[in-house]
Amino acid sequence: MPVYLVLIGLPGAGKGTQAALLSKQHGLAHVSSGDLFRDNIKRQTPLGQQVEAILKRGDLVPDDVTIAMVRDRLKNPECARGAVLDGFPRTPAQAKALEAMLTELGGRVNLVPYIQVSEPVLVERLTGRWTCKGPGQHVYHLKFNPPKAAGVCDVDGTELFQRPDDREETVKNRIAEYVAKTSPLIEHYRSLGLLVEINGDQAIEPVTAQLLAAVAGAK
Ligand code: ADP
Ligand code: AMP
Repeated sequence: MPVYLVLIGLPGAGKGTQAALLSKQHGLAHVSSGDLFRDNIKRQTPLGQQVEAILKRGDLVPDDVTIAMVRDRLKNPECARGAVLDGFPRTPAQAKALEAMLTELGGRVNLVPYIQVSEPVLVERLTGRWTCKGPGQHVYHLKFNPPKAAGVCDVDGTELFQRPDDREETVKNRIAEYVAKTSPLIEHYRSLGLLVEINGDQAIEPVTAQLLAAVAGAK
């Protein structure tokens, strides 16, 4: 049976960083809706053109567009063993659609680690975040997780850049979007007994250790 882990937490909580580590450790796909949108924008596909301005403002992309994109990815053979979902679902309608998709795929949401981080820490993480231009969109931090050579990705050697939506005004809007639209998911998954709270205010390694223990305990 495929396994699906859903990471939730504010922008900058460390979902992408931890999803990359967890997916590798458990042989699961890493499915990041933000990465999928950015890849479409980079390639200027019709979907990319449709969502570019929305990402720039830090608003959420409409549910129907987001759900169709994630459904396509989860049906891909690469996701046959399951996935670590990062950034999806972000609304109750997306959560409902995910449950239906996973039933179709013979699985279910197995665990929802909620990475909790205080707001000043988030801002520092987002303003120091650098991402690579390669297809893996590997993530670094100037201070907390610097690349070996300045400005260059350790994994694929591509150049690093700062996401345009990590500017302070946009960060504020992204946090407001999360509070208004995504935070109801916390109670939803808590009521289903799937939520596990993770202290994200620690360094990357201790956060990974908490996540691995939570996943081991869920099996
Ligand atoms: P999210 O996917 O939740 O938006 P990221 O994984 O991209 O968050 O992390 C945001 C930034 O913070 C990145 O620059 C990343 O390198 C850094 N980071 C992630 N986890 C930690 C941590 N536990 N301690 C310090 N910095 C972190
Ligand atoms: P992220 O990489 O998760 O920080 O997402 C970057 C941006 O992509 C968000 O600010 C939204 O504009 C868009 N996005 C990513 N995931 C979703 C989602 N599940 N629903 C709606 N919009 C999303």
